Amino acid sequence: MMKRALISVSDKTGIVEFAKQLVDLGVEIISTGGTAKKLTEAGVDVIGISDVTGFPECLDGRVKTLHPNIHAGLLAMRSNDKHMQQLEELQITPIDLVVVNLYPFKQTILKEDVTREEAIENIDIGGPTMLRSAAKNFQDVAVVVDPEDYHTVLEEVAAHQQVSDETKFYLCSKVFEHTAHYDTLIAHYMREQRQATDLPEVMSMSFEKVQDMRYGENPHQKAAFYKEVSNTKGCLTNAEQLHGKALSFNNINDTNGALELLKEFDEPTVVACKHANPCGVGSADSIYDAYVKAYKADPVSIYGGIVVANREIDAPTAEEINKIFVEIVVAPSYTQDALAILKKKKNIRVLTLDNIMQKQPDTAYDLKKVSGGLLVQTVNHALLPEHIEVVTKTQPTKEQMEDLKFAWKVVKHVKSNGIAIGKDKMSMGVGPGQVNRIWACKQAIDHAVEHLGEDALKGASLASDAFFPFTDCVEEAAKAGISCIIQPGGSIRDKASIEACDKHGIAMVFTGMRHFKH
Ligand code: 5GP
Repeated sequence: MMKRALISVSDKTGIVEFAKQLVDLGVEIISTGGTAKKLTEAGVDVIGISDVTGFPECLDGRVKTLHPNIHAGLLAMRSNDKHMQQLEELQITPIDLVVVNLYPFKQTILKEDVTREEAIENIDIGGPTMLRSAAKNFQDVAVVVDPEDYHTVLEEVAAHQQVSDETKFYLCSKVFEHTAHYDTLIAHYMREQRQATDLPEVMSMSFEKVQDMRYGENPHQKAAFYKEVSNTKGCLTNAEQLHGKALSFNNINDTNGALELLKEFDEPTVVACKHANPCGVGSADSIYDAYVKAYKADPVSIYGGIVVANREIDAPTAEEINKIFVEIVVAPSYTQDALAILKKKKNIRVLTLDNIMQKQPDTAYDLKKVSGGLLVQTVNHALLPEHIEVVTKTQPTKEQMEDLKFAWKVVKHVKSNGIAIGKDKMSMGVGPGQVNRIWACKQAIDHAVEHLGEDALKGASLASDAFFPFTDCVEEAAKAGISCIIQPGGSIRDKASIEACDKHGIAMVFTGMRHFKH
């Protein structure tokens, strides 16, 4: 039978109503400072915590419930005669229900300009301790950490004067999930505070469910979307959807790929993506021209694809986008007219994302789940090292150097083995995810020839995410009329590739940096 409850909550939502109903059901309530005040003011009879502990709440609330009179009352097993006898001897009354939610540590650390002192003061001590005691003794104690569960407890106590074993076990598992998450946030905050770049002994990152999804990568897979609990400015998790159906698993994955590439560019740029690989990228003086380039680069694959832009979308650009079927558009903003134009299409998803150019902090991790484990690495923020080297007799012109860098940015975000070709700040052809480099090379060239014609490749720049193991890619590039190449270098056959470039009058740059992406 439920006789005694302890209520100590920071989030006081619904607490008065809940406590009132418990009292009506004959339950006696113990409570701490602020909670007791709120309940008393609402006319609920409560026993002050100090009356139970025989000790004042002290140290600015750091010590309130940390007392054997409380914890013995929570941990005593009712089925254990020795435990119950000891309680009697010590004059401790068992507690049957604990209602605790913790100091708002998460809300505190997510506030702009929060001080370390403020964050630390918001580490709850007594709350998790009570939750832990009660949850360990779940057979005898019901423990509620989430206001959403108040009604279940009330219903069961009203019907049976106690909470069912099944519910108590459910509540207990919820508590351990909650306190684990709480502690993880603290651990993560401390790592951030010391700007740790080492990889921790245990991975304890916190993610919270944003939404269940209709399905995963395929319709027979279950899926949900989780958001990292930290500063996620500029991340897709912070995008606001203005129009269209909810995003799917693949939508999110593909859009993320597009955004990562977009963040390489400062000038007005549009990236079109399919299956997380770029199919068209364009930079120009205006977002309209950038879109036209991204479209022209591959007017076939962009169909049903993702379009992300780093400047406001205006009406003429929206008109262009609307000429085809695009799944998703993401931009920092839209003019009113542009939004009205895009919204005419039922099936397009339109999103805004503030701070779209902002990259993740250098301390962020890139995670890859493998069966039975997790691969963790720091995010790939590097683009080019300070010094890059022209290794051929032919030197690239200033314009060609710009094109090489453009193609290099694109290839960094193409699945390996990847090749990207660019000219005049427009991607011309992309060869993604091939098991050998020559296929990626041939595919990129074919892609360009198919959409832009053979002549378009004359004078173009080709980027390779990793070194050329043989001369075959240089030979293929030469045949296509490509005039410069950027690649990491570092193969034992570099000399042969350099000689092949010299033979064809191709300029080649070694970056000394590789950009595998899988
Ligand atoms: P109140 O508003 O009732 O004064 O405080 C409620 C909050 O205090 C709850 O979030 C609860 O988890 C927390 N709390 C309860 N006992 C203790 C304690 O002994 N030490 C600390 N640091 N927090 C406690």
